[in-house]
Amino acid sequence: MAEPQAHQELVIVGGGPVGAALAIALADGVRAITVVEAQASPPGGDTRATALSESSVRLLGALGVWPELAGDAVPIHTVEVSQQGHYGRTRLRAEDQGVRALGQVVAYDGLARGLAERARGAPGVEWLAPATVAGLDQDADGVRLRIDGPDGPTERRTRLAVAADGTRSPLRERIGIGVREYDYGQTALLLPLETGGDPNTGYERFTSDGPMALLPAGGRRRTLIWTLPPERAEATAALAPERLAECVATRLGRSFGPIVPQGPPAAWPLHRVEAERGHDGRVALLGNAARTLHPVGAQGFNLALRDVCGLAAALEHARDPGDDETLAAWSRARQADRWQTRLFTDVLARGFVRGGYGLGALRAGALLGLDSCSIARDGLASQTMGLLGGLPRVGSWHLERRP
Ligand SMILES: Cc1cc2nc3c(=O)[nH]c(=O)nc-3n(C[C@H](O)[C@H](O)[C@H](O)COP(=O)(O)OP(=O)(O)OC[C@H]3O[C@@H](n4cnc5c(N)ncnc54)[C@H](O)[C@@H]3O)c2cc1C
Repeated sequence: MAEPQAHQELVIVGGGPVGAALAIALADGVRAITVVEAQASPPGGDTRATALSESSVRLLGALGVWPELAGDAVPIHTVEVSQQGHYGRTRLRAEDQGVRALGQVVAYDGLARGLAERARGAPGVEWLAPATVAGLDQDADGVRLRIDGPDGPTERRTRLAVAADGTRSPLRERIGIGVREYDYGQTALLLPLETGGDPNTGYERFTSDGPMALLPAGGRRRTLIWTLPPERAEATAALAPERLAECVATRLGRSFGPIVPQGPPAAWPLHRVEAERGHDGRVALLGNAARTLHPVGAQGFNLALRDVCGLAAALEHARDPGDDETLAAWSRARQADRWQTRLFTDVLARGFVRGGYGLGALRAGALLGLDSCSIARDGLASQTMGLLGGLPRVGSWHLERRP
């Protein structure tokens, strides 16, 4: 077994989009950072589209990653929220918010690959893959990780370890942080399709089965994310393409014109999984390992990226990156945004489904009210753009450091 290395500043377990973003945010050539990633290379074949909020676009820009992603991104100029079978609807427009776009849609695979490649090449970053943590000991001064790495067992000692290893986080389990789990009783079907409608509008539509989101993917291409009870999702996924198109058209409305599926639907069971605490000793949780949200409202990665940049800002002047004071201050600073984002997501995921469709008129009234009240609409737009609490400290930290 290799000798434990001298103090790494940071070990990040999980090199998905969130772990990779943290490595990039902290890489300055001075800090020694190790990323432990289970997959040799991003697996690919994930058909998810990721809607990046305006806040994420700014933060990725400050991290120097956005120019590489921008070429394949589709800007969202308008978000239209409506309900099947009711007139109430509201439209959020970029121009009303004084921005060029409310957000941008990128392919999840492209985002994950782009961030991983940038992190792998960043100064001071050691990327161990395929690698997993086989053991961990903490003492007052640091954490020692035993790692099954690409060249056999090895060890790293660090003052801060970050678990960014996904919803079922093996590292979170290893250090004994429990989770609160809520099963939405829903499955998301992801369906690439072609249809009409505005190529730069994102549609959020509430149906009797659950919310549907239609994200632009360039020209006539769209990604549909359709939330259904699991048994209906299974039956729907098995439909022939023409029948599937008909089902989608019935729920979306006829204004889109013909709907042509471009592949089979992929199914994602939906749970909210939240860690009972954000850190334990010198191990902090980030991204899906800390909280996995329902995809409606497209908030998961966007919130996690604000957490990443908040942590990077908290570590910037910290004497000891893993001490309780530093990690507790980071959690406090991020608390309001996390709470608002979780509430927003839950209202969308449950408020428009639970209680049955009998409340449709009330919801339609709420959407109509929203459309005629600019303050409420601006609040919704700010949450959608990830700017409700403002970004100044996080953003300016990066903007100061990176031209
Ligand atoms: C259907 C759907 C649509 C979504 N749409 C949006 C959207 O539009 N906008 C948005 O902001 N968010 C969206 N999300 C949420 C978003 O995908 C997540 O927030 C994001 O993937 C979290 O990234 P992560 O790096 O924390 O976790 P993951 O993406 O799960 O990555 C975890 C990483 O850890 C690695 N790993 C796992 N186990 C180990 C181990 N033992 N050792 C080392 N490494 C390990 C994995 O290989 C992986 O690379 C959506 C989610 C779903 C399900």
